[in-house]
Amino acid sequence: MMISDFNPDKVLSELSCRDLLIRAVHGDEPSCSCGAPVRKSVIGTYQRGGTVACPCGRRFSWASGTLFSGMKISPQTIVMLALLLSLSVSESRIAETLKIDRETVKLWKIRLGGVE
Ligand SMILES: [Zn+2]
Repeated sequence: MMISDFNPDKVLSELSCRDLLIRAVHGDEPSCSCGAPVRKSVIGTYQRGGTVACPCGRRFSWASGTLFSGMKISPQTIVMLALLLSLSVSESRIAETLKIDRETVKLWKIRLGGVE
């Protein structure tokens, strides 16, 4: 495989990568900010990145109120970015491999600093 052809969105599962991110910020039982767990009837929507409603009236997605709120790159790219950063790959090589701006790599390096 030519690394220049590598596209995380084509080789990784969006659902699996989002699930990793959800677990990183919410643990095994995602919940509303009121404390109520995400209901079984809407968990699929939540896992696909959709907005769900809580009986308390709040509407939220997995990313609401987290460092992933408003992110413009795919869960697959974030997972690869986190992996490459953990392997101490240089910012410029990561940017080149994932075809994103070096500034984006720097930003996520700072943001992901607190996430294992
Ligand atoms: Zn709630």
